[in-house]
Amino acid sequence: MTAPEPVLAPTTTEPARLRSVRSRTAVDVPAAEHAVALLLRALGKDPASVHLTETPRRVAGAFAEMLSGPPFELTTFPNEGYDELVIATDIPVQSLCEHHLLPFTGVAHIGYLPGDRILGLSKLARVLEMFARDLQVQERLTQQVADWLETNLAPRGVGVVIEAEHLCMSLRGVRARGARTTTSALHGLLREDARSRQEFFALSGLRGSQA
Ligand code: ZN
Repeated sequence: MTAPEPVLAPTTTEPARLRSVRSRTAVDVPAAEHAVALLLRALGKDPASVHLTETPRRVAGAFAEMLSGPPFELTTFPNEGYDELVIATDIPVQSLCEHHLLPFTGVAHIGYLPGDRILGLSKLARVLEMFARDLQVQERLTQQVADWLETNLAPRGVGVVIEAEHLCMSLRGVRARGARTTTSALHGLLREDARSRQEFFALSGLRGSQA
């Protein structure tokens, strides 16, 4: 895993724009195309057949798209005294399970108790996407989003819940179609204060007994 570039916490009262990129190795698309052709052959298929000639290029392109996200600017603003929970619920999330290279999809609920800065709301989804476009496990993805917000926004508390269905669980193995996996990561007051934590889980549509 590569770590996201560190971003300095803003100290002025002006809107702060922080460029956020994750440094990681770019996808080698021609090598991926070659590998897909080899995989097709290993699966007993003829990659030269008329139905499959475009498949290596398409598969490599699909993986390149799913594994790379555009950089974005994280804009924060001075907090003018708002001290309640800010929460975005049902943010669509899609990622690739690193064990089977199959998608997992679902929704995320991301909340924070603001400190000195607040964040443009759409940016919560951007932070999630930055980490989701990678080979992942749901537990790590959840933790990475919470850790990143903790480090870069310095809120009084942060909570992330992800509910997702994993195709590797619904299409193969136990074939548990429709089963959802829920993970959560909490920092600060959302971890330590029972009332804040319960409010966060209630607004997320969860009962909130976990954590
Ligand atoms: Zn899997």
